[in-house]
Amino acid sequence: MKVAPRFGTGHRILVTGGAGFVPSHLVDALIARGCTVVALDNFVTGSKENVAHLLDTPTFTLVEADISDGLPAHPALAQRFDAILHMASPASPTDFEKLPVEILRVGSVATLHLLDRALDDGARFLMASTSEAYGDPKEHPQRETYWGNVNPIGLRSVYDEAKRFSEAATMAYHRSRGLDTAIVRIFNTYGPRMRPDDGRAIPTFISQALRGEPITVHGTGDQTRSICYVEDLVRGILLLLDSTETGPINCGTEHEMSMRQLAETIIGLCGSKSEVTYITRSADDPEMRRPDLTLARKLLGYEPTVTPEDGLRRTIEHFRSRLG
Ligand code: NAD
Repeated sequence: MKVAPRFGTGHRILVTGGAGFVPSHLVDALIARGCTVVALDNFVTGSKENVAHLLDTPTFTLVEADISDGLPAHPALAQRFDAILHMASPASPTDFEKLPVEILRVGSVATLHLLDRALDDGARFLMASTSEAYGDPKEHPQRETYWGNVNPIGLRSVYDEAKRFSEAATMAYHRSRGLDTAIVRIFNTYGPRMRPDDGRAIPTFISQALRGEPITVHGTGDQTRSICYVEDLVRGILLLLDSTETGPINCGTEHEMSMRQLAETIIGLCGSKSEVTYITRSADDPEMRRPDLTLARKLLGYEPTVTPEDGLRRTIEHFRSRLG
């Protein structure tokens, strides 16, 4: 007999940043389960287009608001929620320079507003943290027990430290107020609905390859990332949501590759004639990144299934149709 998920038909879920890349896929999965979903977004990096297909769905509401200013007065927010997923935050390295204060606020005051609301509602609170919490790691692969190596005043610190603050706040509400909480540390995720001009490696390389422009790899291109297709990540987040685990738990894949390899793979899959060029690398850019998935496997039964070739092919098709 199939066991119903902990959060399913009739449950009310608030997803902050719901019109963003990862959160919009999460919203799709929750709607498909029969949940009633309220997506809250100020469109700073997200887009209404990502949830346009849901706008006529009776169990979906999109509310435009900046969550750093607190929860707005809106009929969709008047009733209690069963779960609150704090997914809002700009997440691209180019945003770290363009939106530093906005990133700090959404990873601090917004988190506190949402934790208070979760407490009032008796809701499960899930926070989207990041592999950036490990900074430029001295331990490889990264286990959840590793405390990280973050420059607290560097250009990336607004993101890294805000996420670390959110983790600390989430654990404080769990320990001192008994709030039901979960923290997921997300590793580099890609897929349809990323913005071509987003500044992250995969959308940048794909856009450049499809346009036949040079692929701009930072530094020597030897730095590594482990790339995760969004479908695998969403499954992992839902496994955590449905569990009673607190985390933090890593979520991603072990498909580690250098930025040079990634560029060459994308050129090949696009059938492009683009050449690889090397540009200045940003400060504090992590040298290597790969999650240790032991906890996710043991506690959640998580197993990523999409190969990089398959995931990249699907993403390239999406970009091809968007870029015309
Ligand atoms: P995204 O920029 O596409 O999505 C974030 C969404 O949050 C956007 O729609 C944006 O408009 C919204 N937002 C930002 N600030 C807001 C505010 N103050 N009020 C309301 N809405 C706000 O980025 P994404 O890659 O989908 O990331 C989603 C979450 O996952 C983020 O919290 C990010 O830190 C985390 N994450 C993503 C990755 C990844 O590889 N994609 C890796 C680690 C962590």
